[in-house]
Amino acid sequence: MGTYEPKFNGAYIGDGKLLTNEELCQILSDVVKCDSTFGREGDCGRLLTKIAAENGLMVEITPTSAEDRFNVMITVGADSFLEKKNGLLLHGHYDTVPVLDMPDPYNTEVVGNKMCGRGIVDQKSGLVAALCAAIAVKRTGRTLKKPLCIACVVDEESEHRGSYALAQTGVKADWAIVTEPTNGNCEFGCKGTTPIRITVKGLTAHASNPWIGVNAIEKAMPILEGLFAMKFPEVDLGEFGKYQGTICVSKLDAGTAYNNVPGEAVIWMDRRTVPGEDSQLALGQVRDVIAEAKKKIPGLQAEAEIARPDWHWPEIRARGLNPTCTPADCELYNVLNRAACRTGLPDVPKKFCNGYNDMDFLVNDLGIPTLVYGSGDGSMAHTAHEEVDVDDVCRVAEVFCHMIEELCM
Ligand SMILES: [Zn+2]
Repeated sequence: MGTYEPKFNGAYIGDGKLLTNEELCQILSDVVKCDSTFGREGDCGRLLTKIAAENGLMVEITPTSAEDRFNVMITVGADSFLEKKNGLLLHGHYDTVPVLDMPDPYNTEVVGNKMCGRGIVDQKSGLVAALCAAIAVKRTGRTLKKPLCIACVVDEESEHRGSYALAQTGVKADWAIVTEPTNGNCEFGCKGTTPIRITVKGLTAHASNPWIGVNAIEKAMPILEGLFAMKFPEVDLGEFGKYQGTICVSKLDAGTAYNNVPGEAVIWMDRRTVPGEDSQLALGQVRDVIAEAKKKIPGLQAEAEIARPDWHWPEIRARGLNPTCTPADCELYNVLNRAACRTGLPDVPKKFCNGYNDMDFLVNDLGIPTLVYGSGDGSMAHTAHEEVDVDDVCRVAEVFCHMIEELCM
């Protein structure tokens, strides 16, 4: 990333402006301090609702398939996010991963311009930047030609019930931005992720009589060899470069005791897909590996299915999480880049992301041209240390304001 003037001089956000840096920091601190580990997002959803309502924004709660886990839909320029086609949809998730090994995860004191906390990078700061942009735009008192919608969704870190429910609403928008951390870059696409479980059957017996049993670990070996030998074609994504799918055999569960022949072996893997591939294709390829192993070992019993240890909801297993890529000449990028340049940033680099994000739902289910742009360095996501530069968050909020000005006012 290039250098830029570090002192923020925006027109919407900043000292003496429509929304001050202090206000943004206070909202960010309040939202980070409110534990919203996936599975228990309710309190944070109510906090976001309260902040939006207190600032005169239209707020609607839309349910997901889980109790007390809901999307908070904020609209400026219409009485509902479904009233008409929105000029811009800003999308962010407010669930976080668990605290894990992060010390002091809810201490949000600003030290040397940095604020820390669980979820501040992934991705409460991007979401708060969007919320603050909506508040600042509301404070202009101007009438919007097209509505602005902020979708605050749940469960991005697990079963994606939030974005799934959002897609079910059929919300319409000319453009969308996912506010995940991009560290000054703009991401045009992401890989998909297909979690697969293979269950290999054997027969349990006492280890002193192994000839009586069927060792499931031994039977799994040709399947494992086949998985490690898998090769995936390269896909040319033009100016983003060439990308390839990957497979990572990530977890093995087998056996009941050291002195038993294991009667079952379970192989877990994470298959990352590139544009042109999807979950069903990925599953079919793994089933082909099993079919080859069965040729070598007659009677081999093994089955593959889409599964992840934390996926209990059938709908997400059926849908999968698929890759996407927005064309490099997308006009939304030009709007974003102009907005960034107005805040003193250099041209925003264009990237494709090896990780997965919810732009999948916006593009593949809702047909909205989408880019990813938000504050923070994504390499800190899920780690013991998440921190953002608060000026950076203010700057991203300012970029959103300028984009709203161009697309909605
Ligand atoms: Zn995230």
